[in-house]
Amino acid sequence: MYLITKEVYFCYGHRLMNHKGKCRNLHGHSVKACITIKADQLNEQGMVCDFSDIKESAEKYINEQLDHNFLLHKEDAIIPFLEQQQERFLALDDHPTAEILAKMIFQHLKTAGFQVDQVSLWETASANACYREN
Ligand SMILES: [Zn+2]
Repeated sequence: MYLITKEVYFCYGHRLMNHKGKCRNLHGHSVKACITIKADQLNEQGMVCDFSDIKESAEKYINEQLDHNFLLHKEDAIIPFLEQQQERFLALDDHPTAEILAKMIFQHLKTAGFQVDQVSLWETASANACYREN
């Protein structure tokens, strides 16, 4: 089994409804997503796949959906105000945690045809959430 990992960086704002601590406040993160692709055999070029292909697919999705966006649970009470102010946001069925963002990026790349091993999202320099399906 061969594994390669590409790092992608982006920023977002969010808050976590019902959180007992400071994550309930409006705040933001500058994060690193580590995307690991796997292959049993290398391609004709001796690669799992081209790093730039991972970057292109991941960044297109992240730029459209997550980067410099405000990520909220769909029932967050601030949504009507953001709509009124014509502010950009993304309402999710789930709470906008690092775990869920890792899963969203994983599922995008899987749908795009990559053999994804895992996506881990470094929310801070010391805190990482990982999603994998095996
Ligand atoms: Zn946070």
